[in-house]
Amino acid sequence: MAADDIYYCQISNMLPEFNNTEIAFRYRDNDELKKARFLFSSMGSPTLTSVGMKLTKFAISWKLPVKGVIKSTLFRQFCGGETMQEAGQTADMLSRYGVKTILDYGVEGKESEADFDKAVPEFVSAIKYAAANKHIPFISIKVTGFAWVDMLEKIHAGVPLNEHGKAAWDKVFKRIDTICKAASDAGIMVLVDAEESWIQKPVDDLADAMMERYNRGRVVVFNTFQLYRHDRLEFLKASHARATEKGYILGAKLVRGAYMEKERARAAQMGYPSPIQPDKHATDRDYDEAVLYCLEHLASVALFIGTHNESSCMKAAVYMDSHGITPGTDRVYFSQLYGMSDNISFNLAGSGYNVAKYLPYGPVQDVIPYLLRRAQENTSVAGQTGRELSLINQEIKRRGS
Ligand SMILES: Cc1cc2nc3c(=O)[nH]c(=O)nc-3n(C[C@H](O)[C@H](O)[C@H](O)COP(=O)(O)OP(=O)(O)OC[C@H]3O[C@@H](n4cnc5c(N)ncnc54)[C@H](O)[C@@H]3O)c2cc1C
Repeated sequence: MAADDIYYCQISNMLPEFNNTEIAFRYRDNDELKKARFLFSSMGSPTLTSVGMKLTKFAISWKLPVKGVIKSTLFRQFCGGETMQEAGQTADMLSRYGVKTILDYGVEGKESEADFDKAVPEFVSAIKYAAANKHIPFISIKVTGFAWVDMLEKIHAGVPLNEHGKAAWDKVFKRIDTICKAASDAGIMVLVDAEESWIQKPVDDLADAMMERYNRGRVVVFNTFQLYRHDRLEFLKASHARATEKGYILGAKLVRGAYMEKERARAAQMGYPSPIQPDKHATDRDYDEAVLYCLEHLASVALFIGTHNESSCMKAAVYMDSHGITPGTDRVYFSQLYGMSDNISFNLAGSGYNVAKYLPYGPVQDVIPYLLRRAQENTSVAGQTGRELSLINQEIKRRGS
């Protein structure tokens, strides 16, 4: 037993036990578990994943009939359904085990003013749907679903917009505001995802403006802080200072960050210092410090811990336990992606913590970029795939199936 484990055991016997596979996989029958085992074993092979990804991209661009295969494999594991109603059924199923849902309309890669406009009512109906279902407290949004990437890049770099650009940016602001207002009226929370560092400033500015408008008395909007960036711990503290000064609650969704390779490659290619931490240890250190900082300031911060890292989740649970913070406080949520790290989600929920799964939904062909990222992530993070597989195998063995 590692020193940290002993510490956890001594503090309380109410803390979650992440190795409990019976609780983790209660919602999966034997057949589903074996399908998950097959999928994670396949993704564990970089060659197979790379070939599979190339074939999928080729098949999609040539409009070959691969929807069935994708739907019964990656889509089934990582998505809630093709429609909001199907996602709602998945949310109902999760709720039977105490796990809540974040509706994530997973359609990506749309790039026209008409598409951006069309997305707004889609999100507003997701909010209404969530409001009618007490197990769906959140929706998530990506600003790139409502704005041209080129424009975000210009604003980030401080390039002045012309009249046309200014009008387009006003429209983006209104789209995001319509969604946040609808959420505020309906009692639903909005998570604003973080994206690449070279477009992040306008995303942060929008999130700040929305928090200032709607996080009065209760939290509606969360900005996302990527702690793989070496400047984000300071930025989190500055965001908190700004919120305190202006009298609103800071919604802080903490993640490590999803675009490390892309960030480093761009910085190297363009010859600027990489915004990414020098190593994993530095990312982990800042992540845990950021969680701690938010837990210490819960009077004015609502914390959303988005991670598959068991140690970070356990450290947060230990801190809450030892400081008398009720596990079910509405100021702290833990979250993992649907189809990943069920051992963390279901065991935390089983111990009374607030847990919500990110649940993407949308037509199969439109969520493919999301699915390919999951396949890539589960290959590149070998430790994660190994952990998922060994837990699934452990449960299959326990069931004797
Ligand atoms: C609920 C939820 C919401 C999310 N939302 C977002 C979002 O809005 N934006 C976003 O960018 N990502 C988001 N992610 C993804 C997240 O940023 C991570 O990529 C992913 O969760 C893996 O990190 P981890 O904390 O789960 O686990 P770990 O496996 O402990 O950490 C892996 C992560 O550590 C970092 N890392 C790995 N190696 C190094 C290294 N050599 N040097 C420095 N850092 C390193 C990278 O960020 C890598 O992804 C979300 C994840 C979850 C669970």
